[in-house]
Amino acid sequence: MSNIATIQLEIEQLGREIFDLIDKDRRHPSLFGDIDFYGRLMEWSMRDPVFKTQMFRFVDVLPTLTSPDDVVKHMLEYLKDVKAPVSTLIRSALTVGRLIPAIPATLIRQNVLAMANLFISGHDGKSALPNLRQIWKEGARFTVDILGEAVVSEREADEFAARYSGLLDFLAEATRAWKLEGPLAASEPPFVNVSVKISALCARVQASDPETSIAAIMARMKPIAIRAKKLGAFINLDMEHFGLKELTLDLFKKLLSEPELQDYPHFGLVIQAYLRGSQMDTEKILDWARQHGRQFTIRLVKGAYWDFEKVVAAQKTWEIPVYLSKPETDANYERITRLLLENRNVVYPAFASHNVRSLAQAAICAQKLGLKPGDYEFQMLYGMAKPIRRALVKLGYRVREYCPVGELVPGMAYLVRRLLENTSNEGFLRAKFGANTPIPELLSDPASHLSNRRQGAPDNIASSGSQRLTAVNRPYQEPHFVNEAPTDFTFSSARTRMTQALEVLRAKLGQAYPLVIGGKQVTGSQQMVSINPAVPKQVIGHIALGTTLDVVNAVAAARTAFSHWSRTPVEERSGFLERLAGKLRASRYELAAWEVFEVGKTWSEADADVVEAIDFCVFYSQEMRRLGRGRLTQEVPGEVSIESYVARGVGAIIAPWNFPLAILCGMTMAALVTGNTVVIKPAEQSSVIGARFMTLLQEAGLPDGVANLVFGTGEAVGSLLVAHPDVDLIAFTGSREVGTSIWQMASVTHRDQRNLKKVICEMGGKNAMIIDTDADLDEAVLGIIHSAFDFQGQKCSALSRLITVRNVHKRLVPRLIEAVAALKIGLPEHPNTDVGPVIDQDAFEKIQRYIELGKREHYLACQAQLPSGLEGYFISPTIFTGVESTARLAQEEIFGPVLVVIPANDLDQAIDIANNTPFALTGGLYSRSPQNIARVRSTFLVGNLYVNRPITGAIVGRHPFGGFKMSGGGTKAGGVDYLLNCMFPRVVTENTVRRGFAPETETVW
Ligand SMILES: Cc1cc2nc3c(=O)[nH]c(=O)nc-3n(C[C@H](O)[C@H](O)[C@H](O)COP(=O)(O)OP(=O)(O)OC[C@H]3O[C@@H](n4cnc5c(N)ncnc54)[C@H](O)[C@@H]3O)c2cc1C
Repeated sequence: MSNIATIQLEIEQLGREIFDLIDKDRRHPSLFGDIDFYGRLMEWSMRDPVFKTQMFRFVDVLPTLTSPDDVVKHMLEYLKDVKAPVSTLIRSALTVGRLIPAIPATLIRQNVLAMANLFISGHDGKSALPNLRQIWKEGARFTVDILGEAVVSEREADEFAARYSGLLDFLAEATRAWKLEGPLAASEPPFVNVSVKISALCARVQASDPETSIAAIMARMKPIAIRAKKLGAFINLDMEHFGLKELTLDLFKKLLSEPELQDYPHFGLVIQAYLRGSQMDTEKILDWARQHGRQFTIRLVKGAYWDFEKVVAAQKTWEIPVYLSKPETDANYERITRLLLENRNVVYPAFASHNVRSLAQAAICAQKLGLKPGDYEFQMLYGMAKPIRRALVKLGYRVREYCPVGELVPGMAYLVRRLLENTSNEGFLRAKFGANTPIPELLSDPASHLSNRRQGAPDNIASSGSQRLTAVNRPYQEPHFVNEAPTDFTFSSARTRMTQALEVLRAKLGQAYPLVIGGKQVTGSQQMVSINPAVPKQVIGHIALGTTLDVVNAVAAARTAFSHWSRTPVEERSGFLERLAGKLRASRYELAAWEVFEVGKTWSEADADVVEAIDFCVFYSQEMRRLGRGRLTQEVPGEVSIESYVARGVGAIIAPWNFPLAILCGMTMAALVTGNTVVIKPAEQSSVIGARFMTLLQEAGLPDGVANLVFGTGEAVGSLLVAHPDVDLIAFTGSREVGTSIWQMASVTHRDQRNLKKVICEMGGKNAMIIDTDADLDEAVLGIIHSAFDFQGQKCSALSRLITVRNVHKRLVPRLIEAVAALKIGLPEHPNTDVGPVIDQDAFEKIQRYIELGKREHYLACQAQLPSGLEGYFISPTIFTGVESTARLAQEEIFGPVLVVIPANDLDQAIDIANNTPFALTGGLYSRSPQNIARVRSTFLVGNLYVNRPITGAIVGRHPFGGFKMSGGGTKAGGVDYLLNCMFPRVVTENTVRRGFAPETETVW
């Protein structure tokens, strides 16, 4: 028998022993049978996915519901349509609840609380003590973790740090007399053991600047660690989502390198085996330990954020960092198990799993390597696997239970994660305790599943060959558009490239930029300068100012080029867009760096703008291929009618500075791919980016004259273009004032004009977000901050009116204000900056005037002090409360970091307030009431409505963007209808009957 087969036999033998003990454990015949409500909930959830989703969502929102009416209302909304057999409790709740809500509300609360208490050991260390004592009495150990709300402010981070320190002190004192005896006692790690989530120690973890985030976390973590050392306690850094992985590993190494802590071995970190790179991470950290002569603990888990990682990666079109099939995770877990045990001289391994196969494999592997049960430990989650824990203790292993403490509201997220884990189709616990899977299957070698699968054995495991979800398992659609992935600044390579790009550009600032007309550079007699709004004395470029003659020449050049470009085959025009996308991609760091300097965008905002420009190129090229094929209007014998499109003529592209590349590129590409030629006028403030864009058009091979570039002000060059009789199409994005005047000017027809001018006009908004009483405030606070203050609120989609329903105001606004205070205001070139300058002096003064008005008429709730030394047009994020919905601040577009909070008595009033402006661009809602979400969906009239997420950041193809009323003409940039605005539709009808014979339609079309 081979070595592998022998080991497998031994694993099976140990596994069976564990299962025997579990089955004999009278106290827990079934993991899901402890409490009637919980047991049934699990049972139905496993049977009915709809019930599972609805019930878990209800459990999630329950603690925030303050009145019995609210509880019953939500229960009805979530559960009335589920088909699962309903328990007496829920059935009575649904009927009685309508009459006497207090009865079912109390009942359901008690049951959910009892369920939460299965997994949460107490609301703090003190109340958890009886449970910890019980664990100890049963021969196991514990580690305590604190559950809490998402940390969004410095005060909350300080509070968390204090709670961790307090917990250490409390546990050290309260457990002083607890002793462990038996064979393992000699090698016992510290008895007091606390698990820390680093995200709780930092108000804002900034992906593009981990060093600053690490410094902020260290400032709170180090005193905790020193306290732990003094008390002889153990500290573990838990591992959270993938975006924090590198930061956590770096922080861990930094912490252990602190002089005061260098000789202390009782720290631990976590490796998540579901991550594809986890084996490499383990090898690296082991190397580091050897090189630095350090010893510590590694807790090996599979990973708790599997679904989340997939969702994030799919939304961002990033590589999925986790394995996509369960046996791959399991097999990797076993590989890393071995690696840790082989390196027992530098690490103390803790195998955290409830999977008997994984546990047995670790124990047998350790035994083969000559290690004893005291050389490592097993860990389980409180309430998840008591019978397994007891079985392992009985067999002489060291077992530690992970015991979260916390209040019910923050505990709900944890509870729902546990419920999901227990009911997961692929999870061990469900397989064993829910589905009664046969033991040989439960103990089978995961590696054997993989090899079977590779040989084509049928199973239901998803392929992990491709790691991009967007392209996986989709029915073929033509054309399949995939968004460009934004840069993930958590990777140090990306940060280095951005830093280098900024450095390279610094040497290129202040150059001269000519006009481009008919492919030739034209250096005007007059110039303007483009400056850095963060450092106004820094000149970004000297820009040639276009004259009337230049405008006339540019339109003439575009007209000349139109005759061949409009006849250029669609395939070639689409091909050009794809080449341009390639150029943009190749220059993405450089272009983002220009945006940082010229318009004051932070790194991620600048990167997002470049990504969007690439998306426009690819999306419109594909759309044009589709439209270019024409459309058979109807199938009738003997006649073929084809609808197709022709270009309008010459387009004027009048672009804004706030998305200096994306909108400029999107409007230009739409015009070009449809066969028009263009004269481009970038905004004065972002002229250098406009010039860089023009160079890329030329480098991508655009024939001379097809696109022409004229710089200048809107009043001069913009107006000339709009009024020019030879301009057929105007694509404008900007303010309402300019947009409406363009609309008017374009309606005037000249004697020698060819076409009625088509105006694509996208203007601003006075965008509102409604926060319902049951909203998830952890999410809402972050969503509000992103929506209102990213790029200093200078997005047409930005949030400027926050409408709070009833009592949510009291809970939300103080947290929001503290979170805003944690934003870093500074130079956008610094990676840790959240808030940069506004675009120019005019904008600065206009916004300041509104702020002064606000101070006179409303209550200034928040405006942080600006850091000293900033010379640019910086304005602190500002919030006014107590604002009437009709006040000027609540009606006029400010285009800066100013947010007004308007209270509403109920949802109806909130919707009325939201709709009561001349604009209809974006809007948002945070709510967990399905009924309220449905109501707002149908009655909040805006072009783009976002539910339970920020209201900015529309993605090409996914969120076609644009509004109506005074926000625009109803066009949707990045949507399938957009290109139609740039073309005239034509229908050609041919009679195909000859001598009474009509061919099949397919043969002629
Ligand atoms: C004491 C303790 C501490 C923990 N600390 C952390 C921590 O700091 N960070 C953290 O992230 N998790 C942590 N966990 C959570 C842990 O990751 C989950 O409980 C664990 O993943 C469940 O794994 P299992 O081995 O018990 O069960 P199993 O049922 O064998 O495995 C389930 C796991 O497999 C993975 N998986 C499921 N489906 C697939 C699929 N289709 N393809 C690939 N992989 C899949 C997921 O990771 C899932 O959680 C901890 C767990 C314990 C017991």
